[in-house]
Amino acid sequence: MINITKETPYENGSRILKFKINKIERESPGYFPLLDRVADPRNVMDAFMLMEKESKDKENFEHVPGFVMESDSVLSMLNSDLTLSRQSRLSQRNEGGTFNGFFDFIKEYGMAFLIDPNLDRINNGAYRNGFLKTGENLLTKEIKDLLNKKEKISVSLLKEPEMMRKSLFFQINFKATDLVAPYTQIELKDVEGTLKNSIEMYNSSNELIRKFWKNYFPAIPVMCIRKNILDARPDKDGKRKAWESIIEEFSKIESPLLILKITDFSTKSKDEKYDNLKSFFQEIKKKIKKPILFLNMNEFSYILFRDGLDFYSSAMGKGSLKSMAGANLSEDQRDSDGLYYVLREMRNVKKRDLKKLPCHCPYCTPFSKIPVDEIETLDWRALRIKHYVWCKNVEIEHLQKELKGNSLRAALWSMFADSKEWKNFTNFI
Ligand SMILES: [Zn+2]
Repeated sequence: MINITKETPYENGSRILKFKINKIERESPGYFPLLDRVADPRNVMDAFMLMEKESKDKENFEHVPGFVMESDSVLSMLNSDLTLSRQSRLSQRNEGGTFNGFFDFIKEYGMAFLIDPNLDRINNGAYRNGFLKTGENLLTKEIKDLLNKKEKISVSLLKEPEMMRKSLFFQINFKATDLVAPYTQIELKDVEGTLKNSIEMYNSSNELIRKFWKNYFPAIPVMCIRKNILDARPDKDGKRKAWESIIEEFSKIESPLLILKITDFSTKSKDEKYDNLKSFFQEIKKKIKKPILFLNMNEFSYILFRDGLDFYSSAMGKGSLKSMAGANLSEDQRDSDGLYYVLREMRNVKKRDLKKLPCHCPYCTPFSKIPVDEIETLDWRALRIKHYVWCKNVEIEHLQKELKGNSLRAALWSMFADSKEWKNFTNFI
Protein backbone atom coordinates (compact mmCIF):
# COMPACT_ATOMS: atom_id res chain seq x y z
CA MET A 1 0.00 0.00 0.00
CA ILE A 2 1.44 3.37 -0.99
CA ASN A 3 1.17 5.67 2.03
CA ILE A 4 2.16 9.27 1.50
CA THR A 5 3.58 10.54 4.79
CA LYS A 6 5.03 13.97 4.04
CA GLU A 7 5.42 16.51 1.29
CA THR A 8 8.28 18.97 0.98
CA PRO A 9 7.74 21.60 -1.68
CA TYR A 10 10.70 23.48 -3.14
CA GLU A 11 10.81 27.04 -4.27
CA ASN A 12 11.48 26.05 -7.85
CA GLY A 13 8.13 24.28 -8.12
CA SER A 14 9.22 20.69 -7.66
CA ARG A 15 8.63 18.78 -4.49
CA ILE A 16 9.57 15.62 -2.68
CA LEU A 17 7.10 13.21 -1.18
CA LYS A 18 8.03 10.89 1.60
CA PHE A 19 6.02 7.71 1.36
CA LYS A 20 5.96 4.23 2.74
CA ILE A 21 5.27 0.95 1.04
CA ASN A 22 5.19 -2.05 3.33
CA LYS A 23 6.98 -0.11 6.08
CA ILE A 24 9.90 0.90 3.86
CA GLU A 25 10.23 4.65 3.58
CA ARG A 26 11.16 6.23 0.28
CA GLU A 27 11.22 9.60 -1.45
CA SER A 28 9.73 10.70 -4.75
CA PRO A 29 10.17 11.11 -7.65
CA GLY A 30 10.03 7.52 -8.74
CA TYR A 31 9.94 5.26 -11.78
CA PHE A 32 7.56 2.29 -12.01
CA PRO A 33 8.81 -0.12 -14.69
CA LEU A 34 5.99 -1.45 -16.83
CA LEU A 35 6.69 -5.17 -16.84
CA ASP A 36 5.99 -6.74 -20.18
CA ARG A 37 7.24 -9.85 -21.91
CA VAL A 38 10.33 -8.07 -23.14
CA ALA A 39 11.31 -6.86 -19.68
CA ASP A 40 10.52 -10.22 -18.03
CA PRO A 41 9.95 -9.80 -14.28
CA ARG A 42 12.75 -12.26 -13.55
CA ASN A 43 15.33 -9.93 -15.06
CA VAL A 44 14.20 -7.08 -12.88
CA MET A 45 14.18 -9.25 -9.77
CA ASP A 46 17.71 -10.45 -10.64
CA ALA A 47 18.82 -6.84 -10.98
CA PHE A 48 17.67 -5.98 -7.47
CA MET A 49 19.17 -9.08 -5.96
CA LEU A 50 22.55 -8.58 -7.55
CA MET A 51 22.68 -4.98 -6.36
CA GLU A 52 21.82 -6.10 -2.88
CA LYS A 53 24.52 -8.75 -2.93
CA GLU A 54 27.10 -6.26 -4.14
CA SER A 55 26.34 -3.53 -1.67
CA LYS A 56 24.32 -5.10 1.12
CA ASP A 57 22.04 -2.13 0.71
CA LYS A 58 18.43 -2.65 -0.26
CA GLU A 59 17.95 1.01 -0.98
CA ASN A 60 19.99 0.94 -4.12
CA PHE A 61 16.86 1.19 -6.19
CA GLU A 62 15.29 3.79 -3.99
CA HIS A 63 13.65 5.50 -6.94
CA VAL A 64 12.05 2.36 -8.30
CA PRO A 65 9.27 1.90 -5.75
CA GLY A 66 7.08 -0.52 -7.65
CA PHE A 67 5.93 -2.14 -10.86
CA VAL A 68 2.99 -1.93 -13.19
CA MET A 69 1.56 -4.75 -15.29
CA GLU A 70 -1.30 -4.49 -17.73
CA SER A 71 -4.14 -6.87 -16.91
CA ASP A 72 -4.09 -8.49 -20.36
CA SER A 73 -0.47 -9.57 -19.87
CA VAL A 74 -0.55 -10.62 -16.21
CA LEU A 75 -1.29 -14.28 -16.86
CA SER A 76 1.42 -14.76 -19.44
CA MET A 77 3.88 -12.81 -17.32
CA LEU A 78 3.39 -14.48 -13.99
CA ASN A 79 2.66 -17.93 -15.32
CA SER A 80 5.46 -18.12 -17.82
CA ASP A 81 7.17 -20.99 -16.02
CA LEU A 82 4.18 -23.26 -15.96
CA THR A 83 3.06 -25.59 -18.67
CA LEU A 84 -0.18 -26.58 -16.95
CA SER A 85 -3.58 -25.58 -18.24
CA ARG A 86 -4.81 -22.14 -17.22
CA GLN A 87 -7.28 -23.59 -14.76
CA SER A 88 -4.59 -25.59 -12.99
CA ARG A 89 -2.34 -22.58 -12.99
CA LEU A 90 -4.88 -20.58 -11.10
CA SER A 91 -5.44 -23.27 -8.50
CA GLN A 92 -1.69 -23.62 -8.20
CA ARG A 93 -1.52 -19.93 -7.52
CA ASN A 94 -3.96 -20.28 -4.70
CA GLU A 95 -1.71 -22.83 -3.05
CA GLY A 96 1.35 -20.66 -3.43
CA GLY A 97 2.96 -22.20 -6.49
CA THR A 98 5.29 -20.43 -8.84
CA PHE A 99 3.97 -16.96 -8.20
CA ASN A 100 5.65 -16.85 -4.86
CA GLY A 101 9.00 -15.73 -6.21
CA PHE A 102 7.60 -12.50 -7.58
CA PHE A 103 5.24 -11.77 -4.71
CA ASP A 104 7.84 -12.53 -2.04
CA PHE A 105 10.16 -10.18 -3.82
CA ILE A 106 7.56 -7.40 -3.87
CA LYS A 107 6.95 -7.86 -0.18
CA GLU A 108 10.54 -8.18 0.89
CA TYR A 109 11.65 -5.07 -0.95
CA GLY A 110 8.63 -3.07 0.18
CA MET A 111 7.42 -2.37 -3.32
CA ALA A 112 4.08 -1.51 -4.87
CA PHE A 113 2.58 -3.76 -7.51
CA LEU A 114 -0.17 -2.22 -9.61
CA ILE A 115 -2.23 -3.94 -12.26
CA ASP A 116 -3.51 -1.49 -14.84
CA PRO A 117 -7.01 -2.76 -15.76
CA ASN A 118 -6.25 -1.48 -19.27
CA LEU A 119 -9.88 -1.89 -20.37
CA ASP A 120 -9.59 1.27 -22.45
CA ARG A 121 -7.61 -0.89 -24.87
CA ILE A 122 -9.98 -3.79 -25.12
CA ASN A 123 -11.04 -2.74 -28.61
CA ASN A 124 -7.46 -2.31 -29.78
CA GLY A 125 -6.52 -5.25 -32.00
CA ALA A 126 -2.96 -5.38 -30.64
CA TYR A 127 -4.29 -6.23 -27.18
CA ARG A 128 -7.07 -8.61 -28.17
CA ASN A 129 -5.08 -11.83 -27.83
CA GLY A 130 -3.80 -10.83 -24.42
CA PHE A 131 -7.32 -10.17 -23.18
CA LEU A 132 -8.56 -13.39 -24.72
CA LYS A 133 -5.87 -15.34 -22.88
CA THR A 134 -7.17 -14.05 -19.56
CA GLY A 135 -10.56 -15.53 -20.51
CA GLU A 136 -13.19 -15.56 -17.83
CA ASN A 137 -10.64 -14.86 -15.12
CA LEU A 138 -10.95 -11.25 -16.20
CA LEU A 139 -13.79 -11.01 -18.71
CA THR A 140 -17.49 -11.75 -18.56
CA LYS A 141 -18.60 -14.50 -20.90
CA GLU A 142 -20.42 -12.03 -23.11
CA ILE A 143 -17.34 -9.85 -23.54
CA LYS A 144 -15.11 -12.85 -24.16
CA ASP A 145 -17.47 -14.15 -26.86
CA LEU A 146 -17.63 -10.76 -28.56
CA LEU A 147 -13.85 -10.46 -28.48
CA ASN A 148 -13.56 -13.88 -30.05
CA LYS A 149 -15.78 -12.68 -32.88
CA LYS A 150 -13.70 -9.50 -33.14
CA GLU A 151 -16.71 -7.39 -32.36
CA LYS A 152 -16.58 -4.07 -30.58
CA ILE A 153 -17.04 -4.06 -26.82
CA SER A 154 -19.30 -1.24 -25.67
CA VAL A 155 -18.65 0.81 -22.56
CA SER A 156 -22.00 -0.27 -21.16
CA LEU A 157 -20.74 -3.88 -21.13
CA LEU A 158 -17.53 -2.84 -19.38
CA LYS A 159 -19.53 -0.93 -16.79
CA GLU A 160 -21.62 -3.94 -15.82
CA PRO A 161 -21.16 -4.84 -12.15
CA GLU A 162 -19.96 -8.34 -13.01
CA MET A 163 -17.21 -7.01 -15.27
CA MET A 164 -16.18 -4.42 -12.69
CA ARG A 165 -16.08 -7.09 -10.01
CA LYS A 166 -13.94 -9.35 -12.19
CA SER A 167 -11.51 -6.57 -13.00
CA LEU A 168 -10.99 -5.78 -9.31
CA PHE A 169 -10.91 -9.39 -8.17
CA PHE A 170 -8.34 -10.13 -10.85
CA GLN A 171 -6.05 -7.56 -9.21
CA ILE A 172 -6.71 -8.98 -5.76
CA ASN A 173 -6.10 -12.50 -7.01
CA PHE A 174 -2.72 -11.49 -8.39
CA LYS A 175 -1.82 -9.70 -5.19
CA ALA A 176 -1.72 -6.14 -6.41
CA THR A 177 -0.72 -4.01 -3.43
CA ASP A 178 -3.09 -1.18 -4.41
CA LEU A 179 -6.25 -1.51 -6.49
CA VAL A 180 -6.71 0.55 -9.62
CA ALA A 181 -10.28 1.47 -10.55
CA PRO A 182 -11.34 0.13 -13.96
CA TYR A 183 -11.82 2.96 -16.43
CA THR A 184 -12.37 3.78 -20.08
CA GLN A 185 -10.98 6.68 -22.02
CA ILE A 186 -12.42 10.16 -22.03
CA GLU A 187 -12.95 11.32 -25.61
CA LEU A 188 -13.18 14.78 -27.09
CA LYS A 189 -16.22 14.00 -29.21
CA ASP A 190 -18.27 13.32 -26.07
CA VAL A 191 -16.38 14.67 -23.08
CA GLU A 192 -19.42 14.84 -20.86
CA GLY A 193 -20.63 11.29 -21.53
CA THR A 194 -17.23 9.59 -21.47
CA LEU A 195 -16.15 11.51 -18.37
CA LYS A 196 -19.34 10.42 -16.67
CA ASN A 197 -18.54 6.79 -17.54
CA SER A 198 -15.12 7.03 -15.91
CA ILE A 199 -16.45 8.61 -12.74
CA GLU A 200 -19.26 6.04 -12.54
CA MET A 201 -16.76 3.20 -12.89
CA TYR A 202 -14.63 4.74 -10.17
CA ASN A 203 -17.59 5.09 -7.81
CA SER A 204 -18.93 1.61 -8.41
CA SER A 205 -15.41 0.14 -7.90
CA ASN A 206 -15.34 1.60 -4.45
CA GLU A 207 -18.83 0.39 -3.68
CA LEU A 208 -17.68 -3.13 -4.56
CA ILE A 209 -14.53 -2.78 -2.47
CA ARG A 210 -16.51 -1.55 0.52
CA LYS A 211 -18.92 -4.41 0.13
CA PHE A 212 -16.62 -7.35 -0.63
CA TRP A 213 -13.04 -6.45 0.17
CA LYS A 214 -13.05 -4.35 3.29
CA ASN A 215 -9.34 -4.90 3.87
CA TYR A 216 -8.49 -2.85 0.81
CA PHE A 217 -8.17 0.90 0.54
CA PRO A 218 -10.39 2.61 -2.05
CA ALA A 219 -9.25 2.10 -5.62
CA ILE A 220 -6.95 4.62 -7.31
CA PRO A 221 -8.83 6.71 -9.91
CA VAL A 222 -7.46 6.89 -13.45
CA MET A 223 -7.82 9.98 -15.60
CA CYS A 224 -7.46 8.36 -19.02
CA ILE A 225 -7.79 10.78 -21.88
CA ARG A 226 -7.31 10.61 -25.62
CA LYS A 227 -4.57 12.77 -26.94
CA ASN A 228 -6.98 14.89 -28.97
CA ILE A 229 -8.18 16.33 -25.68
CA LEU A 230 -4.68 17.73 -25.16
CA ASP A 231 -4.95 19.46 -28.52
CA ALA A 232 -8.02 21.25 -27.18
CA ARG A 233 -6.05 24.10 -25.68
CA PRO A 234 -7.80 25.99 -22.91
CA ASP A 235 -7.17 29.25 -24.72
CA LYS A 236 -9.01 28.13 -27.83
CA ASP A 237 -12.63 29.17 -27.93
CA GLY A 238 -15.13 26.47 -27.18
CA LYS A 239 -12.55 23.89 -26.20
CA ARG A 240 -11.65 25.24 -22.81
CA LYS A 241 -14.52 23.32 -21.35
CA ALA A 242 -13.01 19.88 -22.02
CA TRP A 243 -9.97 20.51 -19.84
CA GLU A 244 -11.97 22.31 -17.20
CA SER A 245 -14.68 19.74 -16.77
CA ILE A 246 -12.27 16.78 -16.65
CA ILE A 247 -10.05 18.45 -14.06
CA GLU A 248 -13.06 19.67 -12.10
CA GLU A 249 -14.60 16.18 -11.85
CA PHE A 250 -11.36 14.52 -10.80
CA SER A 251 -10.64 17.23 -8.24
CA LYS A 252 -13.77 16.16 -6.37
CA ILE A 253 -12.43 12.63 -5.87
CA GLU A 254 -10.84 11.95 -2.54
CA SER A 255 -7.99 9.51 -2.96
CA PRO A 256 -4.34 9.44 -1.93
CA LEU A 257 -3.10 9.11 -5.52
CA LEU A 258 -4.25 9.90 -9.05
CA ILE A 259 -3.18 7.98 -12.14
CA LEU A 260 -2.90 9.84 -15.42
CA LYS A 261 -2.86 8.06 -18.76
CA ILE A 262 -2.90 9.57 -22.23
CA THR A 263 -3.76 7.29 -25.14
CA ASP A 264 -2.83 7.69 -28.82
CA PHE A 265 0.02 9.86 -27.68
CA SER A 266 2.63 8.75 -30.16
CA THR A 267 0.60 9.17 -33.31
CA LYS A 268 1.68 12.71 -34.06
CA SER A 269 5.25 13.81 -34.30
CA LYS A 270 5.20 17.48 -33.48
CA ASP A 271 6.70 19.07 -30.39
CA GLU A 272 3.38 20.80 -29.98
CA LYS A 273 1.89 17.74 -28.34
CA TYR A 274 4.40 18.02 -25.50
CA ASP A 275 3.65 21.69 -25.10
CA ASN A 276 -0.02 20.84 -24.79
CA LEU A 277 0.70 18.04 -22.37
CA LYS A 278 2.78 20.32 -20.22
CA SER A 279 0.05 22.99 -20.11
CA PHE A 280 -2.59 20.38 -19.34
CA PHE A 281 -0.47 18.96 -16.54
CA GLN A 282 0.05 22.42 -15.08
CA GLU A 283 -3.71 22.97 -15.13
CA ILE A 284 -4.22 19.67 -13.32
CA LYS A 285 -1.74 20.66 -10.65
CA LYS A 286 -3.46 23.97 -10.01
CA LYS A 287 -6.61 22.15 -8.94
CA ILE A 288 -5.50 18.69 -7.86
CA LYS A 289 -2.89 18.61 -5.15
CA LYS A 290 -2.66 14.86 -4.73
CA PRO A 291 0.32 12.81 -5.92
CA ILE A 292 0.23 11.77 -9.56
CA LEU A 293 1.53 8.66 -11.32
CA PHE A 294 1.77 9.07 -15.06
CA LEU A 295 1.29 5.79 -16.93
CA ASN A 296 3.03 5.19 -20.24
CA MET A 297 5.17 8.28 -20.18
CA ASN A 298 8.81 8.50 -21.25
CA GLU A 299 11.67 10.78 -20.13
CA PHE A 300 9.46 13.79 -20.71
CA SER A 301 8.41 13.01 -17.14
CA TYR A 302 11.63 14.72 -16.03
CA ILE A 303 10.22 18.01 -17.29
CA LEU A 304 7.01 17.36 -15.40
CA PHE A 305 8.85 16.62 -12.15
CA ARG A 306 9.25 20.35 -11.78
CA ASP A 307 5.53 20.86 -12.24
CA GLY A 308 4.75 18.39 -9.50
CA LEU A 309 4.74 14.96 -11.17
CA ASP A 310 5.68 12.37 -8.57
CA PHE A 311 5.93 9.05 -10.39
CA TYR A 312 5.97 7.80 -13.93
CA SER A 313 5.76 4.45 -15.59
CA SER A 314 6.92 3.27 -18.99
CA ALA A 315 7.98 0.09 -20.72
CA MET A 316 11.65 -0.65 -20.22
CA GLY A 317 14.16 0.17 -22.92
CA LYS A 318 11.73 1.75 -25.36
CA GLY A 319 11.01 5.37 -24.64
CA SER A 320 13.89 7.52 -25.73
CA LEU A 321 13.48 11.24 -26.06
CA LYS A 322 14.23 10.84 -29.73
CA SER A 323 11.14 8.75 -30.26
CA MET A 324 9.37 11.21 -28.01
CA ALA A 325 10.10 14.34 -30.00
CA GLY A 326 9.99 12.55 -33.33
CA ALA A 327 7.72 9.80 -34.53
CA ASN A 328 7.72 6.23 -33.30
CA LEU A 329 10.84 4.23 -33.97
CA SER A 330 10.93 3.09 -37.56
CA GLU A 331 11.52 -0.56 -38.40
CA ASP A 332 15.13 0.26 -39.13
CA GLN A 333 15.64 1.74 -35.66
CA ARG A 334 14.41 -1.35 -33.89
CA ASP A 335 16.53 -4.31 -33.03
CA SER A 336 15.16 -7.79 -32.67
CA ASP A 337 17.42 -8.37 -29.66
CA GLY A 338 16.19 -5.20 -27.99
CA LEU A 339 17.64 -1.71 -27.72
CA TYR A 340 20.24 -0.63 -25.20
CA TYR A 341 19.81 2.58 -23.25
CA VAL A 342 22.86 4.84 -23.15
CA LEU A 343 23.12 6.66 -19.85
CA ARG A 344 23.74 10.43 -20.09
CA GLU A 345 22.78 10.37 -23.77
CA MET A 346 19.16 9.47 -23.26
CA ARG A 347 18.95 7.33 -26.33
CA ASN A 348 18.43 3.69 -27.18
CA VAL A 349 20.87 2.06 -29.56
CA LYS A 350 20.87 -1.18 -31.50
CA LYS A 351 23.16 -3.99 -30.44
CA ARG A 352 24.96 -3.95 -33.76
CA ASP A 353 25.76 -0.26 -33.39
CA LEU A 354 27.75 -0.82 -30.21
CA LYS A 355 31.28 -2.18 -30.17
CA LYS A 356 31.85 -2.24 -26.42
CA LEU A 357 29.38 -1.58 -23.65
CA PRO A 358 29.73 2.07 -22.59
CA CYS A 359 28.75 1.42 -18.98
CA HIS A 360 30.20 0.18 -15.70
CA CYS A 361 27.04 -0.81 -13.91
CA PRO A 362 27.08 -4.21 -12.16
CA TYR A 363 25.23 -5.79 -15.08
CA CYS A 364 27.33 -4.47 -17.95
CA THR A 365 30.68 -4.90 -16.22
CA PRO A 366 30.92 -8.71 -16.63
CA PHE A 367 30.52 -8.15 -20.38
CA SER A 368 32.58 -5.00 -20.73
CA LYS A 369 35.72 -6.70 -22.02
CA ILE A 370 34.13 -8.65 -24.84
CA PRO A 371 32.88 -7.21 -28.12
CA VAL A 372 29.15 -6.60 -27.98
CA ASP A 373 28.44 -8.82 -30.97
CA GLU A 374 29.88 -11.77 -29.05
CA ILE A 375 27.38 -11.39 -26.20
CA GLU A 376 24.88 -14.21 -26.40
CA THR A 377 21.31 -13.14 -27.20
CA LEU A 378 19.88 -14.36 -23.90
CA ASP A 379 22.58 -12.58 -21.90
CA TRP A 380 22.03 -9.45 -23.95
CA ARG A 381 18.29 -9.37 -23.39
CA ALA A 382 18.72 -9.81 -19.65
CA LEU A 383 21.59 -7.37 -19.21
CA ARG A 384 19.97 -4.56 -21.18
CA ILE A 385 16.85 -4.70 -19.00
CA LYS A 386 18.82 -4.82 -15.74
CA HIS A 387 21.01 -2.01 -17.01
CA TYR A 388 17.89 0.00 -17.93
CA VAL A 389 16.36 -0.15 -14.46
CA TRP A 390 19.72 0.84 -13.00
CA CYS A 391 19.98 3.83 -15.39
CA LYS A 392 16.50 5.10 -14.49
CA ASN A 393 17.31 4.93 -10.80
CA VAL A 394 20.60 6.79 -11.34
CA GLU A 395 18.92 9.49 -13.44
CA ILE A 396 16.12 10.14 -10.99
CA GLU A 397 18.41 10.11 -7.99
CA HIS A 398 20.62 12.65 -9.69
CA LEU A 399 17.71 14.86 -10.74
CA GLN A 400 16.20 14.73 -7.28
CA LYS A 401 19.43 15.92 -5.67
CA GLU A 402 19.93 18.65 -8.24
CA LEU A 403 16.36 19.88 -8.13
CA LYS A 404 16.69 20.60 -4.41
CA GLY A 405 19.04 23.47 -5.09
CA ASN A 406 18.96 24.21 -8.80
CA SER A 407 16.63 24.99 -11.64
CA LEU A 408 15.26 22.17 -13.74
CA ARG A 409 17.43 23.32 -16.63
CA ALA A 410 20.59 23.08 -14.53
CA ALA A 411 19.53 19.72 -13.13
CA LEU A 412 18.89 18.24 -16.55
CA TRP A 413 21.99 19.81 -18.02
CA SER A 414 24.17 18.25 -15.37
CA MET A 415 22.79 14.82 -16.26
CA PHE A 416 22.31 15.05 -19.99
CA ALA A 417 24.97 17.47 -21.19
CA ASP A 418 26.37 14.71 -23.44
CA SER A 419 23.01 14.08 -25.01
CA LYS A 420 22.22 15.02 -28.57
CA GLU A 421 18.61 15.07 -27.43
CA TRP A 422 19.28 17.91 -25.03
CA LYS A 423 17.82 20.41 -27.47
CA ASN A 424 14.52 18.55 -27.34
CA PHE A 425 14.42 19.18 -23.64
CA THR A 426 15.32 22.83 -23.92
CA ASN A 427 12.21 23.39 -26.02
CA PHE A 428 10.13 22.83 -22.93
CA ILE A 429 12.00 24.52 -20.11
ZN1 LIG B 1 25.05 -0.85 -17.55
